[in-house]
Amino acid sequence: MPTAVKTRRSSFRNLLLKKREELLASSRRQPEALATSLRTPDEVEFAIKTAQQDVTAATAELHSRMLREVESALKRVAGGTYGVCEGCGEEISPHRLKAIPWARYCLTCQELRSKN
Ligand SMILES: [Zn+2]
Repeated sequence: MPTAVKTRRSSFRNLLLKKREELLASSRRQPEALATSLRTPDEVEFAIKTAQQDVTAATAELHSRMLREVESALKRVAGGTYGVCEGCGEEISPHRLKAIPWARYCLTCQELRSKN
């Protein structure tokens, strides 16, 4: 494997590890946010807290989904298949990986998939 590719993979690995840390840190904050909303507020406050709780739940869901993507990307780094499109087997462009380090598909395959 050319050194340039190795270097690129390890820098994406660092990106992914950092992202995973972020996601783990924010999920650790979650229980606290939920506990706060369990106090007995007046009705208006209750409505606001309920809305916030919905957002919290949606964010938690999004975070856990992203965390799964990041973990699976890290596995691909370890297995040496990182940066290869799961659809067509071509290399995913470094530009795309910079924007979405856990991308599984190249732009073409991603577009095809979202159309179907
Ligand atoms: Zn592809």
